[in-house]
Amino acid sequence: MQTATTDGTTMMELGQDYPEIREAVSRLCAEFPGSYWRDLEAAEDYPVKFVEALTEGGFLSALIPEGYGGMGMPLRAASVILEEIHASGCNAAACHAQMYIMGTLLRHGSEDQKRSYLPKIATGELRLQAFGVTEPTTGSDTPKLKTRAERKGNEYVINGQKVWTSRAFYSDLMLLLARTTPVDQVKRRTDGLSVFLIDMKEALKSGMSISPLKAMVNHNTTEVFFDDLHIPTSALIGEEGQGFRYILDGMNAERVLVASECIGDARWFIKTGADYAGQRQVFGRPIGANQGVQFPIARAYAECRAAELVLRQACALFDSGQPCGEDANMAKLLASEASWHAGEACLQTHGGFGFAREYDVERKWRETRLYQIAPISTNLILAYLGQHVLGMPRSY
Ligand SMILES: Cc1cc2nc3c(=O)[nH]c(=O)nc-3n(C[C@H](O)[C@H](O)[C@H](O)COP(=O)(O)OP(=O)(O)OC[C@H]3O[C@@H](n4cnc5c(N)ncnc54)[C@H](O)[C@@H]3O)c2cc1C
Repeated sequence: MQTATTDGTTMMELGQDYPEIREAVSRLCAEFPGSYWRDLEAAEDYPVKFVEALTEGGFLSALIPEGYGGMGMPLRAASVILEEIHASGCNAAACHAQMYIMGTLLRHGSEDQKRSYLPKIATGELRLQAFGVTEPTTGSDTPKLKTRAERKGNEYVINGQKVWTSRAFYSDLMLLLARTTPVDQVKRRTDGLSVFLIDMKEALKSGMSISPLKAMVNHNTTEVFFDDLHIPTSALIGEEGQGFRYILDGMNAERVLVASECIGDARWFIKTGADYAGQRQVFGRPIGANQGVQFPIARAYAECRAAELVLRQACALFDSGQPCGEDANMAKLLASEASWHAGEACLQTHGGFGFAREYDVERKWRETRLYQIAPISTNLILAYLGQHVLGMPRSY
């Protein structure tokens, strides 16, 4: 039976929509096998060639409207691109932000800002993939962040620190969230925050410094320090004090895209685990004939399919301009858990070989673990559902 979804496609097509994009992305990814990612990780290096190939293929400009030089595709198409990258064993974390950070500029920037930046972001001439929100002392409590941007004449002066600012060494621009009005002078604590587009090359000359932050995965993440960084007022996006709302606005797309990466990871784990379970002979038969090995993989497949349905629903709502916060958050929650369960099943199926680097299972297992923490942790999604969707009392 085929059931219509809100984007007019049918459930029978799940996982198979946009076949040309899927085919093109997996052809590109075939040029970047497991050894490419293992070598990068050993050298703690950035996947320059992979990102160049995606840029040249136009994939990273998927969401930029054609009028600004991009592909003008729906969110579902971008979601398929990231899913296929991850299902191929590659990792899009080095560049996925180039796809969606520009959403804040697109929705809230002035026409001048959009004309000067978006076409260059679309071609890859400018990389906008550093997103400075998280701070070391305030974490998930974003409105409490301490980085200050004080207006002085026709400049803002920025002081403070960000942590986990990924790709900062490989970005020309950074979208920065900073406080422009002290929290004790605003009506709501989410007021008084503003968003800036920082020219990183200029900022590095005086007032901004970046330190690498070594992590469990090769994520090219950093700490960024601001010490009297002067930026022109033209770097402000939209209205001063409205930044929190602008950032929230972009988060649904981010959640959907990260959920898509999880679905891709889950597909890779399920295929890799099922193939190995069929081939590996112990006690004179394939290990996959044992239900203790087979069932966790089958369960992970069912979880992945269920998460994918919610993800498709979130895309359909987003692409038709309807509110999608509930579905985008649930998609991220369910997909990150589905990919983790699939990773666990795949690793366990491989026994000792799951620990051998050359199988890539342990690398993908570490990579997919991140998504239960970033860009938002599972508890914070549950709090959103509990408080904003189900109307239960607020905990913060
Ligand atoms: C590899 C990596 C890359 C990242 N890249 C970026 C980036 O590019 N830009 C950026 O701005 N940030 C980035 N982050 C930061 C990421 O978004 C945060 O780590 C994440 O939002 C969680 O914040 P926190 O680490 O401060 O955890 P905390 O806020 O300290 O929370 C710690 C734990 O407590 C739980 N918790 C906290 N408060 C509550 C509550 N009220 N109820 C229930 N549970 C609660 C959380 O769910 C979490 O499990 C990255 C992080 C990592 C690890």
